[in-house]
Amino acid sequence: MTTTRTVVRGGLVITAADEMHADVLIEGGRIAALAAHDSDAAAGWSADTVIDATNKYVIPGGVDGHTHMEMPFGGTTASDTFETGTRAAAWGGTTTIVDFAIQSVGGSLRSGLDTWHAKADAQCAIDYGFHMIVSDVTDNTLKEMDVLVEEGVTSFKMFMAYPGVFYSDDGKILRAMQRAAANGGLTMMHAENGIAIDVLVQQALAAGRTDPRYHGEVRHALLEAEATHRAIQLARVAGAPLYIVHVSAQQAVAELTAARDLGLNVFGETCPQYLFLSTDNLAEPGFEGAKYVCSTPLRPREHQAALWQGLRTNDLQVVSTDHCPFCFAGQKDMGVGDFSKIPNGMPGVENRMDLLHQGVVDGQISRRRWIEIACATPARMFGLYPRKGTIAPGADADVVIYDPHAEQVMSAETHHMNVDYSAYEGRRTTGRVETVLSRGVPVIDNRTYVGRAGHGQYTPRGICQYLI
Ligand SMILES: [Zn+2]
Repeated sequence: MTTTRTVVRGGLVITAADEMHADVLIEGGRIAALAAHDSDAAAGWSADTVIDATNKYVIPGGVDGHTHMEMPFGGTTASDTFETGTRAAAWGGTTTIVDFAIQSVGGSLRSGLDTWHAKADAQCAIDYGFHMIVSDVTDNTLKEMDVLVEEGVTSFKMFMAYPGVFYSDDGKILRAMQRAAANGGLTMMHAENGIAIDVLVQQALAAGRTDPRYHGEVRHALLEAEATHRAIQLARVAGAPLYIVHVSAQQAVAELTAARDLGLNVFGETCPQYLFLSTDNLAEPGFEGAKYVCSTPLRPREHQAALWQGLRTNDLQVVSTDHCPFCFAGQKDMGVGDFSKIPNGMPGVENRMDLLHQGVVDGQISRRRWIEIACATPARMFGLYPRKGTIAPGADADVVIYDPHAEQVMSAETHHMNVDYSAYEGRRTTGRVETVLSRGVPVIDNRTYVGRAGHGQYTPRGICQYLI
């Protein structure tokens, strides 16, 4: 396998930095060289396999820094396994995921991490790494954080939401941030004021407001902004970098903008569902709105413009999916008559690259910015660059041949995620994945899956590459 040579000819290579009419030589699973199409160098390359990318884009495989395969939540488990979820990711042009291992309350980080390794081991079609969800900050947990950073689990997610489940109070958050400041870890924050939200949930249910749309109303945008602000101040006090996950409210974007204007190491992620969906979806008739229940919630349409602008101005740096699918039948319907019992999460790992490309088609972002927010920056943010996230000599040959002109209609009938609905059912988009290589090995070959469970390798990560 290591001597296999592949040449990708005739395409437009797009990275976060450049657009190049170049052929790409792949050798031993890595990018060996790029050269202009008609150059002597490219003409001289011999290869076992030639991929014709004429009129196509040649882009780095996507890096999705926020997924939850087979995650237990609210008495059920996310419906994609590492096998089905990573296969679907590959179909959508993503070649690396960073999933979340979970510490159970009273348990160690180590046992949580071991549990997630056991779920993923030998199952994945593409490469993967782990963040660690810290649910229980203790003296022992803090010591374990140091060890995990050394081992390549370099980011720690905490929750200001979900009291009684994942919630950490401000003191626990501060202690973990102080530890991360010392050991190089990156604190990731679910920023919503869960204590206040739970009061509003109880009041809504008591008043008979039980439909899915009330999930959006009780999780008020100001309670996302407040928590975002508080997390930023705690991180400043601790001297720690901070990454806010799934930003959905324009008021939260404003908090990030203000912090970055102060020169702070504060970063923000949003997700396709916040860019393309809204509270209109949560209000769909019957129980349909449950399909769109996730936290932070979908917001009124007008927030979308602020999120796109944040992506253009770099006040938001990353688009991940927060892929956490639950079937409409048998899982989402646990919340009929009580929106608070709807499992929180949406499918999307297969749709991210295409939806962001639609942002290019719609004039929201440039092609290079598409690659930056979906590939290069997440790779840098989570210590995977330049092995992942770019096409350059020495990088892993995680390469996608992308047809920018192909039309598709998103649908549960045709998607590969193990979930019985699509959040984008019937949506027409322009652009489609054609072929996907993971470390030079075909996973999708001309719209046919040729990968295998177990090809994907666990990938230890370095520390965040934006820290100064
Ligand atoms: Zn999440």
